[in-house]
Amino acid sequence: MSNIKIDETISWRDITPGGDIVAKGNSVEFKTGDWRTMRPVFKEDKCKQCMLCCPTCPDMSIPVKDGKRLDFNFDHCKGCGICAAVCPFDAIEMVKEEK
Ligand code: SF4
Ligand code: SF4
Repeated sequence: MSNIKIDETISWRDITPGGDIVAKGNSVEFKTGDWRTMRPVFKEDKCKQCMLCCPTCPDMSIPVKDGKRLDFNFDHCKGCGICAAVCPFDAIEMVKEEK
């Protein structure tokens, strides 16, 4: 089940042709992770903080703070599994998304 709330006061006349997003720098405002069908699970005990996964994520959904990777940002993770494929230490497991 999606948690998206639809604002029924907005008509098609209020949106851009094709629903294009034309403002710049606003992708962070659009939570695009809600159509994910698979979910990465971070196995922190196996992680060696090698940082191979972070730059491979196409959605920048692996936050890094003070030189350490943190748990996933599920607002934007699409569940593509690239991070799990590159991790050499089996510290990321892909599971079916349950919503
Ligand atoms: S599953 Fe894909 S989108 Fe999600 S964190 Fe891993 S690489 Fe990024
Ligand atoms: S690739 Fe694996 S071991 Fe390396 S930082 Fe990512 S989760 Fe941790």
